[in-house]
Amino acid sequence: MYDNSMKIEFVSKSQNESFARVAVAAFVSQLDPTIDELTDVKTAVSEAVTNSIIHGYENGKGIVKIEAYIKERELTLIIEDEGAGIEDVNLAMQPLYTSRPDLERSGMGFTVMDTFMDSLEIQSEKNKGTRVLMKKVFKSLS
Ligand code: ATP
Ligand code: MG
Repeated sequence: MYDNSMKIEFVSKSQNESFARVAVAAFVSQLDPTIDELTDVKTAVSEAVTNSIIHGYENGKGIVKIEAYIKERELTLIIEDEGAGIEDVNLAMQPLYTSRPDLERSGMGFTVMDTFMDSLEIQSEKNKGTRVLMKKVFKSLS
């Protein structure tokens, strides 16, 4: 069982990106994270939520859900949408791959999530939605 958990959901508006980042940071603060650890998590949340808003719902209305679990010093984050989905997840995860060069996206979101978190898993189905699962173990308190 987990030591603690939370779940939030919000409308896919870009204004809610900072809400999501701050909400997750507040939940994670109970682990006494370092500034770097907190920045890593906030950046990963931003990237995943932005993807749901701009790619999943293509800036239309939809619901983005975030679940977070803490077990000892490990954080599990799940960020999901019921939007457009991804046809080829392996391709989407390639650094610099973007389906929206027209929006001046750089195709680095998944690479950033992978770099800043300890693990990254993407489940997606075309026209069903996308679920991003990330884990990070926080340094032990000295
Ligand atoms: P950047 O994040 O650098 O601005 P990007 O969003 O295109 O650019 P990634 O975040 O790495 O790059 O995502 C790669 C591609 O995966 C996207 O271009 C998009 O096609 C697809 N994708 C990612 N997340 C979703 C999602 N939630 N729903 C649908 N498609 C997605
Ligand atoms: Mg992105």
